[in-house]
Amino acid sequence: MKIIRSVRQMQSHCRILAANGKSIALVPTMGFLHEGHLSLIRKAGKLCDRVITSIFVNPTQFAANEDFSRYPRDEKSDLAKIKKAGGDVVFIPKAKDIYPDNFQTFVDVQKLTRTLEGNVRPGHFLAVATIVAKLFNITRPDVAIFGMKDYQQAIVLKQMTSDLNYPIRFVIAPTVREKDGLAMSSRNSYFTTEQRKEAVCLYRALRRAKVMASENISDLNAIRTDMERVIKSICPTAEIDYIAFTDFESLEPLMTIRKNCICSLAVRLFNVRLIDNMKLL
Ligand code: AMP
Repeated sequence: MKIIRSVRQMQSHCRILAANGKSIALVPTMGFLHEGHLSLIRKAGKLCDRVITSIFVNPTQFAANEDFSRYPRDEKSDLAKIKKAGGDVVFIPKAKDIYPDNFQTFVDVQKLTRTLEGNVRPGHFLAVATIVAKLFNITRPDVAIFGMKDYQQAIVLKQMTSDLNYPIRFVIAPTVREKDGLAMSSRNSYFTTEQRKEAVCLYRALRRAKVMASENISDLNAIRTDMERVIKSICPTAEIDYIAFTDFESLEPLMTIRKNCICSLAVRLFNVRLIDNMKLL
């Protein structure tokens, strides 16, 4: 497995792969890998000849009050996991190489980023779209794979891929969960064992919404109230950023449950902000 740390070298390696007729899949990550990430790498291996996994904790997508400096990192363990999952190349650029001194260009996906996470984290998607556009330009993949766990991010990046005419097949892979249903996330490592048990509240609330939707309850306020009750009963100190019901493609808010309705939520637990989502119908 090849480890590449320079942008130049990554570009020339991908040019050679393409010249030799090899298809390339890109899996962008921020490292501290878990089964969710590894499922993307395995899927990528089935779709292309070569899998490039990038590891870059992108500083610009964290606001000043967020967890950039304490974000978990473990390069050695990540490399072992990628190798086992069948990765071919790991791209680990330095921030200085990605954002040289005179850097001044950003990619702004407009409507889709003005809601949900974009509302609570202004500038976040501007940074995410920019770094992913850069990774696309550096690696020129045939396929790019993102997780449903960060569903708004996937929809935003899919739009960018189409709007900017990237010749890339955009794949969204399902969320991998722990046994109790908690969506795997590098941020779960922040919890103590006791706190971790309460983190299941997001999944339980989503399941409650799904059951209500399947019972033909279409009043979103009633569903939201029940979800809040579920969360508070499991984790009394939880602070709910939002519980939203939107159309899966457009992210437009819905007034009632209907086909393609997805529920997403963001909750702060013990100083850790988690997000999750579930398609209801
Ligand atoms: P991150 O390292 O958090 O930036 O995530 C890198 C990629 O892995 C993104 O496309 C995420 O959506 C995806 N991902 C993160 N957690 C999961 C999960 N539990 N299941 C599937 N994909 C995930």
